[in-house]
Amino acid sequence: MNYLFTPNDLSIFENVNSCFETDKFGNCLIQTHRAELFGIPVMLVGQQSGPSSNYKNMRKAMMDPDQIQKWNHGMPVPISYERAVKAIYLAEEENRILLIFIDTPGADPTERSEANGIAWRIGDAIHALADVKVPTISVIINRACSGGAIALTGTDTTLALEHSTYLVITPEACSSILFHTPNEAAKISQITSREGFTHGIVDELIPEPNGPAHRNKQQTLASVKTVLRKYVMNGSDFDPKTIFGKRVDRWKKIGHWKEINPSELNSFHRPVTRLPVPESTGYIKRHEKCYDANGNHHYDPESFRELEKTNFICDVCGHRYVRPSAWDYIDWMVDSGSFFEHEETKFIADKDILGFPGYIEKLKETRIKTGLLTAMITGDGTICGKKIVLCTTDFGFLGGSFCMSTGEKVWRAAQIAINKNVPMIIQACGGGARMHEGCSSMVSIPKAQLAMSRVEQAGLAVVTLITDPTLGGVAIGIGSRGQRLFEFNAGHIGFSGKRVIEQYTGEKTSPGFQTVNWLKEFGHAEDIVHPKNLKEKIFSMI
Ligand SMILES: [Zn+2]
Repeated sequence: MNYLFTPNDLSIFENVNSCFETDKFGNCLIQTHRAELFGIPVMLVGQQSGPSSNYKNMRKAMMDPDQIQKWNHGMPVPISYERAVKAIYLAEEENRILLIFIDTPGADPTERSEANGIAWRIGDAIHALADVKVPTISVIINRACSGGAIALTGTDTTLALEHSTYLVITPEACSSILFHTPNEAAKISQITSREGFTHGIVDELIPEPNGPAHRNKQQTLASVKTVLRKYVMNGSDFDPKTIFGKRVDRWKKIGHWKEINPSELNSFHRPVTRLPVPESTGYIKRHEKCYDANGNHHYDPESFRELEKTNFICDVCGHRYVRPSAWDYIDWMVDSGSFFEHEETKFIADKDILGFPGYIEKLKETRIKTGLLTAMITGDGTICGKKIVLCTTDFGFLGGSFCMSTGEKVWRAAQIAINKNVPMIIQACGGGARMHEGCSSMVSIPKAQLAMSRVEQAGLAVVTLITDPTLGGVAIGIGSRGQRLFEFNAGHIGFSGKRVIEQYTGEKTSPGFQTVNWLKEFGHAEDIVHPKNLKEKIFSMI
């Protein structure tokens, strides 16, 4: 654990004073201070994962209820991100350069944080950094892990201490899914900031001259100050247009992808539906293991018409019969025959930048199975005659996971919407960021958000349809933006998945957890729409 920047040690800065203090649960995890550096006004936003960098002291602190109240085991909660967002806009108001320090094992995976809307609060932080009219610099000082880190690294510059890490998922969690040992997972996923620098997602590494920062604190602080000097001095020109233009130029280049040729695309490219076909009787076979609340096993066929009404959710047990394909959503969302896939995005393919075991084979297999080149399709269409740009996602393509090609496709689709002066409609679906692309998949999330900001700034509507599932990287990226619509009867919507939360807390989540109705109860899902009414509903919004 790194202990570089704490309320008691901000010695490299001048005129420090804290703002937005609170005594709410987890209040220390993200701290905000006005300060100056080389006489230039800055706003400090600092993540800190605990009260000490000494392991023994930390263990002791984490048994003390008062300390847990302040630090929540190092994992930021919704109010932490709310505080960051306030500081981001205050920096704009007061013309301060934003300096953000990152150290987090990830955001809080609990039901309480989900009920408080953690996905949307992380999304708000990424949104604020995309929009804010002052220069933004993030510095990774220790562990920058998962959505907790990406919340605050969608900046104009990302610096990192040379021994820090920047990763999409902990090696422990990755290995429990894909590998035998965390070591193996860490090596393959390329989790160090040095590797991030190689992939173009870290701009500069800050030397730790005599070894790890927590043992050589003063030298490291001096080193941080030297590197920051250049960026802070360069950033002290506050022309909002220049700042935003430079931001767009930086993010345009983020990510890696391939372009395939038309004959290769045509070998598998085809619209695939996943909707069931009723038998001539109008019924379909009931799914296996259908038990009601009293434990009675149901075998009788289900009426297709009734299933359509519930959006293909079993009314006895809640089982979801189908996850509609990207093409099914296209059918539901635009006027019949009006959709044309964008020439600018249809040849973009996923790239295996890590040499991740089995990724290339998995992609090939999935392309044939789904008829898609990537998890997302973008194109032009009309809704009740009105021209729009549409992006849809397919759960069948590696769980719809958010990856570099998704970031690039949203970026290009946004540009098309701006050029044609039409609204942008996005259907979000997916379980998180794609592990096979390491941290680069996660860094494509702010890229997509910045693209959506550009559309909104052009005065055009952005509407997002949140479908089953919208979790993790998908929720904090495309899912948290625009005017949000929630798919009727959808589930699995939020930041951390139910299984992760239950494993972490050791407790069962509440009935209906992360369903649209559950979200509505907590004020996170105002607008709910049935797939049958999508066109009319979206038309009324644009
Ligand atoms: Zn059932």
